[in-house]
Amino acid sequence: RAAKVSAAQAITQGISAEGGLFVPEQLPKLTEADFNALIEKSYVERAIVILAKFLTDFSDVEIRYCAENAYHDKKFKTNNIAEISHLFDGTYMLELWHGPTCAFKDMALQILPYLLTTSAKKVAKGKKIVILVATSGDTGKAALEGFKDVPDTQILVFYPEDGVSAMQKRQMTTQEGENVAVSAIKGNFDDAQTGVKKIFTDPAVVEKLAENNMMFSSANSINWGRLLPQIVYYISTYCELVRDEEIAMGDELNVVVPTGNFGNILAAYYAKKMGIPFGKLICASNANNVLTEFIRTGTYNRVRDFHTTISPSMDILISSNLERLLYDLCGCDDEKIKTWFASLSETGKYTVDAGVMEKLSEEFYAGCCDDDATRATIGEIFRKYSYLCDTHTAVAVKVAQEYKKETGDDRKMIIASTASPYKFAPSVLPAITDEIPADDYEQLEQLHELSKLEIPAALAELKHKTVRFTDSVDKEEMEQVVLGMLGLA
Ligand SMILES: *Cc1c(COP(=O)(O)O)cnc(C)c1O
Repeated sequence: RAAKVSAAQAITQGISAEGGLFVPEQLPKLTEADFNALIEKSYVERAIVILAKFLTDFSDVEIRYCAENAYHDKKFKTNNIAEISHLFDGTYMLELWHGPTCAFKDMALQILPYLLTTSAKKVAKGKKIVILVATSGDTGKAALEGFKDVPDTQILVFYPEDGVSAMQKRQMTTQEGENVAVSAIKGNFDDAQTGVKKIFTDPAVVEKLAENNMMFSSANSINWGRLLPQIVYYISTYCELVRDEEIAMGDELNVVVPTGNFGNILAAYYAKKMGIPFGKLICASNANNVLTEFIRTGTYNRVRDFHTTISPSMDILISSNLERLLYDLCGCDDEKIKTWFASLSETGKYTVDAGVMEKLSEEFYAGCCDDDATRATIGEIFRKYSYLCDTHTAVAVKVAQEYKKETGDDRKMIIASTASPYKFAPSVLPAITDEIPADDYEQLEQLHELSKLEIPAALAELKHKTVRFTDSVDKEEMEQVVLGMLGLA
């Protein structure tokens, strides 16, 4: 299981041949000199320094090429890339949604295509990278925007016909770019996911691609290339707060993260291990509170009802990146991880040992809240501080409040804000008004009237964009759609 590969190989492959997740052999440590150098830099320049510590098989020129193509002001609506807003004294909202699709997935998916193509040039020379995505909404659009017109790549996204919001559907069906395609499938998200996996591992299809100098790769959140860029914004934010004299170098900050697949909060954990003085890492969940229970008790139990909530990107019962955390917490003991995850797939649960439990409680705190509390929090924060947050972020704010009340810990904190409130307007509006227009675009206007926040152009202009992709296929037809797009049918 513990196969050793280069960074380029890990990113190109996505997942190990045995099905395990790649982790860095050693987390690089930031020295005092590193910190001092980072503080005065821009986001891109910080990203370049941090990425270089991990991507030891990339040249400086390659790393600069990746970072500069991903993080610039044509793609992000702010020069700072990751923006910090002050909610109130000592509470900072880390706004990760100023990218092209208004959600935090852009932070990683804008750079992944460049990391991937640069990696492929090293380990799979001359091959075109083909990305297949099954999406329940946000990831598909963020991946499309990231891969749009990136040389030597093709991307195809499948979404469940009745499983995404009207706005999300429109975001995808109007996607621009020469190398993109989108198709609905008649089925649910699981059907889409299963279909993609089947094509991905079908030897006949894989061989056909190989004959034509193409290969599949993965853009989902188990790819190390998606986790790595997320470490950057935690380090950058700490440096930014020091530069702005909000904190002194060395001050401890708690970090609160609305969590689904455990990628975002894991990046905060890695930043801490690299030397950023983070205190508690606070994991916030919605009614799908499998992680709350796990962090509090040490037992992970997926055998429970699945809840559809107003924070859909956190509606998850299996958080794949947790495997990476546990591997680290148990001292990289492959056998333990194997036992626990075998138990998860056989019985739906596992319990970690006392040693891991102790470390888990030392580093993490967990809490959850339901949809009513989420809406109430959006309303309260809006009235008290004139700050409007989306449904996912509100879950984090609520859990942050509870944490403070329960523990009295008054260290300053960073709350990860993972989506623009406009992205989830139909759920955000009822939290602040009774007047809710039926039309999607009028809802954006209404939210603007109340909040005075600028409507993201990417959402407003959807109304006038041409729909390019109208196909809806049976799941049995997915393979034909893929081959057709690649000109191999
Ligand atoms: C994906 C997503 C999350 C969950 O992040 P993980 O890294 O999967 O834990 C939270 N909020 C929003 C808006 C998201 O899109």
